[in-house]
Order: sequence, then C-alpha cells, then structure tokens
Amino acid sequence: MKIENSLIENYNYMSCIFCEIIKGNVPCYKVYEDETCLAFLDIRPASQGHTLVLPKEHWENFEAIDNETLSKVMVVVKKIGQAIKAGLGVEGYNIVVNNNAVAGQIVPHLHFHIIPRKSGDGLEPWPQGEYKTGEAEEILEKIKIG
Ligand code: 5GP
Ligand code: ZN
Repeated sequence: MKIENSLIENYNYMSCIFCEIIKGNVPCYKVYEDETCLAFLDIRPASQGHTLVLPKEHWENFEAIDNETLSKVMVVVKKIGQAIKAGLGVEGYNIVVNNNAVAGQIVPHLHFHIIPRKSGDGLEPWPQGEYKTGEAEEILEKIKIG
C-alpha cells in the first residue's frame, strides 16, 4: 500500500509540466528565478506579458503549500507585478489562482497568474451576483473564522 502510494505520488510529480519546466526539460520564457520560485510567460496569454509565478517545489494547490514558502512566492508575485507595470506601461494587473479543477485549475502545481490589464482590453470580470434576505448571514455562519 505504501509503495503504491509513493508510486502514484512519483507519477504525479513526473507528469507535471511545470516540474518539467523547472527541471529545464521543457523550455520557457523565463521572467525570474531564485532558489524558491520560477516565473515565466504563459504559453497562451490572456494578455501580452501574462506571467506565471510558482514555487519550485511541487505543491498541488494553495492550501497544500507551507506558509513560509508561500510568503516567499508572494513576495516574488509583488516583484513581478511591479516589473510588469513598469516594463509594459500597463495601468494594473490581475493576480489569479485557479484553485482546484472546479475553479479552472488545469495544471495541478500551484501557480499565480499575473495578467496585465489595460482599460478597454475586453477581459471580462466575473459576474456580480447578489444575496437574498438572510443568505449572507447563512453563508457567514459556515465560513467565518473566530
Ligand atoms: P491553470 O488553468 O492551471 O490555472 O493555468 C495553467 C496555465 O498554464 C494556462 O494558462 C496555460 O496556458 C499555461 N501552460 C500550460 N502548459 C504550459 C507550458 O508548457 N508552458 C507555459 N509557458 N505555459 C503553460
Ligand atoms: Zn509540479
């Protein structure tokens, strides 16, 4: 059972496209690298300069990663955001994590999308819904901390 589990974990690791990029087996347009993180251009950009920032260690999603590594990745996200704004002259950018398949995560190796934005670029925001009477309180009861 133990061996099977380790084989499955190893298979997931070996078949991860981002791990292959990190190992240098698959090429990328590298924006930044340090001992913890790698950032490279998304191959199918939502806008020009769309960059992915990820930990070099294979963490499947946002909850899996340890806080210390996450903090280092977040600092790099900030750094790349600044570089994108300055270098491309854009007015802003979206920072997006598609967390789990239901949220659109295709590559199961945690990554932050930084998507440069210009006014009138046509990139749609998500819809703005509403709460019926009492619904916000119900939701709050389920998710509030402390
Ligand atoms: P997700 O949907 O998992 O949040 O986003 C995965 C992103 O990775 C997609 O935007 C996709 O274009 C990008 N991507 C997938 N494979 C590759 C690749 O081999 N190279 C690069 N540079 N980007 C990739
Ligand atoms: Zn990986």
